[in-house]
Amino acid sequence: MAMIECQDVHKWFGDFHVLQGISQSVERGEVLVICGPSGSGKSTFIRCINRLEEFQKGHILLEGKDIHSGDFDVNELRAEIGIVFQQFNLYPHLTVIKNITLAPMKVRGRDKKAAEAQAMELLERVGIVEQASKYPAELSGGQQQRVAIARALAMRPKVMLFDEPTSALDPEMINEVLNVMKDLARDGMTMLCVTHEMGFAREVADKIIFMDDGQIVEQGPPNEFFSNPRHERTKAFLKEIL
Ligand code: ADP
Ligand code: MG
Repeated sequence: MAMIECQDVHKWFGDFHVLQGISQSVERGEVLVICGPSGSGKSTFIRCINRLEEFQKGHILLEGKDIHSGDFDVNELRAEIGIVFQQFNLYPHLTVIKNITLAPMKVRGRDKKAAEAQAMELLERVGIVEQASKYPAELSGGQQQRVAIARALAMRPKVMLFDEPTSALDPEMINEVLNVMKDLARDGMTMLCVTHEMGFAREVADKIIFMDDGQIVEQGPPNEFFSNPRHERTKAFLKEIL
């Protein structure tokens, strides 16, 4: 059974048909990279998977269970499917450790000590344990993004979504975030990553999909995708970003 299965997902914003039948499955432990031009629907697609956006037609299943069924309330679903955004979205008025412990205590019902111990382990894992008592504004962009990853992991999600997690970072900070993502992938996390970091895609993706105008135009394993793109739109896109 796939970890995530999207079946003919359609979404409209008013009259605008933003997702025009997306079907895609991601197996447990797989990394899917999603690329495509700005406005093609990449963010909308991944935001549908944890119900930050609703869609009007089709189904999305998590381990075979429809995300709209009574099996999930939306908070539980978002605990199972973590997301990391381009703009970090940390709580500015909370310290790093509180950013990480808040949801596990509220949603997962963990006690404070256990939540803090886990947060420190996660900060160790993303390499910024010494920043635990700082506020987000005191950290660099790369450090903030690593806190955001730790915060999502604190829920012990089954799946992680990444929406251009390095696009807002200064170049010298991109690798520190990509390295954390690579570690996660190696540890077997199931990941859907919107990114234009094609080096990352080559190294860790099991499959790359190229979206344009709300559709998946092309998909394949990285070696095929890069060496032998079939569609003109993919070729043009790759030419521009590589
Ligand atoms: P991408 O992430 O590939 O750049 P998005 O999923 O953000 O694309 O957006 C796809 C299209 O949907 C764009 O044309 C965008 O303007 C439009 N769109 C995104 N969010 C909304 C919204 N809340 N209301 C109306 N249109 C939207
Ligand atoms: Mg986007």
